[in-house]
Amino acid sequence: MADVVHNIMDFLIIGAGLAGLALAQDLKTAGATAKLLDKGRSAGGRMATRRIGQTRVDHGAQYFTARTERLKAEADAAIAEGWLQIWSHGFPQWVNGEINARPEGYPRYAPFNGMSEWAKRLAEGLDIRTGATVISAERADNNRYEVRTQEGETFHSDALIFNIPPAQLLTLARPLLTPDSVVKVEAASQGFLPSWALLMLLENDIPGANWPAIEFSEHPVLGFVSRDHTKRRAGSPPALVVHGKGDWSAAHLEDNPADAQSTLLHAVTDVFGSITPVETQIHRWRYALPTRPLTEKYVWDENARIGFIGDWCGGPRVEGAIESGRSLAPVVTQTKS
Ligand SMILES: Cc1cc2nc3c(=O)[nH]c(=O)nc-3n(C[C@H](O)[C@H](O)[C@H](O)COP(=O)(O)OP(=O)(O)OC[C@H]3O[C@@H](n4cnc5c(N)ncnc54)[C@H](O)[C@@H]3O)c2cc1C
Repeated sequence: MADVVHNIMDFLIIGAGLAGLALAQDLKTAGATAKLLDKGRSAGGRMATRRIGQTRVDHGAQYFTARTERLKAEADAAIAEGWLQIWSHGFPQWVNGEINARPEGYPRYAPFNGMSEWAKRLAEGLDIRTGATVISAERADNNRYEVRTQEGETFHSDALIFNIPPAQLLTLARPLLTPDSVVKVEAASQGFLPSWALLMLLENDIPGANWPAIEFSEHPVLGFVSRDHTKRRAGSPPALVVHGKGDWSAAHLEDNPADAQSTLLHAVTDVFGSITPVETQIHRWRYALPTRPLTEKYVWDENARIGFIGDWCGGPRVEGAIESGRSLAPVVTQTKS
């Protein structure tokens, strides 16, 4: 198929995760044109929800926090609109075989319809091409950027912003980055833990369970277990999400999915007693959580008009990703030629 060439706009954003979406919304408000490309079927990246049976289950981020005034105000507005809730004020912890309650902390928010709901809302009104896997990014003769996708399209833009994990950024764009940026991205790429995620619809809820989720810091296999249905509206069937611990997931990254599923199921049965899943899905997140985020919330090279954002820039986590995208917006619009 002949390449389709798109001559665009001021900003091309590679990756429509939360950081890219948040940036694009602020660029739009400032009057700049931006297009986002994402390889996924929908925008939102790790803010992901799957349909299983008659319900929806979060297999990436489980909740988000809101500490900045802007995010807090947005969360309050979303609660008033009726699509967001405070899911919890913290989670008990599993220590030495016991579930220990902890004092209440700051709010953990989760949409009733799944975490992807917020990404969908952030994506409204934006120019996003999904199903577009970027395979190369180069500087063209006219000093514009030329970006090609696996699907056979080419995009040209004045400025390029990446919202993808650091290892993938190096593969795609190392020659475009300054030596200083390469050092930073290489360091960040060394600190990213994966996670195996097991999603289950259950015949019955765990007997006696009254917690929304449990954190496991000392378990060899488990990282986080969530009773996902406690985020849904009343009457949703019991559903459990089991996230493998980062170290364990890293050691078993290339395992057969059936083996990873079996280990997670045994581990969770060991802790909570017999569990009867009626439907299961397993998902591997190769880049789940950054452990060595940069101190900067974004990197922007004004001369080359190239930058990068994401939860590994100033992050981590959902709130960090949003903040990263939002911090870059005023910088690039002020300097827009
Ligand atoms: C299992 C798990 C549990 C988590 N739990 C929590 C939690 O409870 N609370 C919390 O706050 N955070 C949690 N997080 C972290 C949170 O999901 C992330 O911090 C946040 O979503 C990151 O957003 P981002 O925009 O930086 O990146 P991403 O969401 O990773 O977005 C990157 C985007 O780039 C796209 N992309 C990559 N390569 C290409 C390419 N070549 N071409 C085109 N597109 C490409 C991807 O499809 C993706 O959409 C969790 C993450 C995981 C995986």
